[in-house]
Amino acid sequence: MVTVSNRTKVKGDRTPRSMDVYHEKEGIKGSSYCECGAVFRGKRWQNASGDQQPEGRKLVCPACRRIADRTPAGILTLQGDFFTKHEAEINNIVRNTEQTYYQKNPLAKVMETRKEDNGVTITTTDGKLAQKIGREVFKSYRGDLNFMWSQSEDLVRVAWSR
Ligand SMILES: [Zn+2]
Repeated sequence: MVTVSNRTKVKGDRTPRSMDVYHEKEGIKGSSYCECGAVFRGKRWQNASGDQQPEGRKLVCPACRRIADRTPAGILTLQGDFFTKHEAEINNIVRNTEQTYYQKNPLAKVMETRKEDNGVTITTTDGKLAQKIGREVFKSYRGDLNFMWSQSEDLVRVAWSR
C-alpha cells in the first residue's frame, strides 16, 4: 500500500492523501468485506479464509472498483507468431500465474482478456500481476519483454513478444 504521509500542516484543501485513489484511506475501523471475497482487516485487504463467514460491513474493494470503472493498473500484451502457435500453453501460464498471485493478493485480478490479430491484451487490477505474468512467460519462452511505467496514470504497460 502506497500512502503519502505528511506531518506538516497543509493550508486550504490541499490535504495530503494517498497517491492511489483506489487504496483505502486510513481510518477504516474493524473489518469489512467485499462481494468478491476480499476482507479488509488490520488495514489491509486479505483473502477470506474459506471456512469463515465474512463479517463487518460491506465495502467494495479497490480491485472491484477498478473493474467497475474500467481502470486497469496493468496492461499486458502478448504478441507474435510464436504466441499464435503456442497460445494454449501460454494461456495456461497466464492462468496459473493469476491464480498463484491471487492467493497472495486478493486485489490482483485479470480484468479482461481481449483477442487481437496476432496476440492478446490482458488488463489487470494490479500492476505487479501484469509484470509477474510477463516475467513468467519470458522465463518459459524467452522473447522480448518490456515494461513502461506511467506515474501520472498509475499504470504499468508490459509488452511481451516472440
Ligand atoms: Zn472486491
